[in-house]
Amino acid sequence: MKIILATHNLHKREELLTLVGNAFEIELLPEDFPEIPETGDTLEENALIKARFVFETLHQPTFADDTGLEVTALHGAPGVHTARYAGENATYEDNCRKLINELKNEDDRMAKFCTVICFVDEKGSEHFFRGEVHGNITKEFRGANGFGYDPVFEPLEGGGKTFAEMTSGEKNHLSHRARAMHEFLADVAKELKNGTD
Ligand code: IMP
Repeated sequence: MKIILATHNLHKREELLTLVGNAFEIELLPEDFPEIPETGDTLEENALIKARFVFETLHQPTFADDTGLEVTALHGAPGVHTARYAGENATYEDNCRKLINELKNEDDRMAKFCTVICFVDEKGSEHFFRGEVHGNITKEFRGANGFGYDPVFEPLEGGGKTFAEMTSGEKNHLSHRARAMHEFLADVAKELKNGTD
């Protein structure tokens, strides 16, 4: 099965390709494919908007993911606004600095990363998968690997390391994206098996 991966984000693409392995063939979006506005109020809506738009345009099974960081002391923010937390053209560093600043007088550092995958299959049916990882927001940047909020997110099961202090293998072992992908692959495997029964 050949599936289109609906993202231009190189970091996400790399992680997703590693996680998929050779379970099925992945096709990337054409370079000139337009950026798809994420106008939904939930991760599910945004993943659906992206997957559906690519499916309607290219007429091929499509896979899209949307991720949000939910911080308990900030009542779930930045949530769906995770990419643009510090403003429209904010860098990853700007976003992390804003987060550390917002939490500067806060003892409760708890947060979770959530990834929702939406898969629109060859018949146009929608399938959703979710993965989460709980952790804490650090008080300073730690580590140089990964992307986004990785330098300030310390997963509970990470032995005290932030995602940015882990190898990609270590991050992929327990990340929100890996967990959502695991659910997706289990479901696709089931479908493929049903097709041969
Ligand atoms: P997206 O909507 O799925 O592209 O993700 C929104 C934002 O979440 C990105 O711009 C990143 O800042 C952040 N993000 C997504 N995945 C990760 C991750 O695995 N680690 C750290 N930050 C992430």
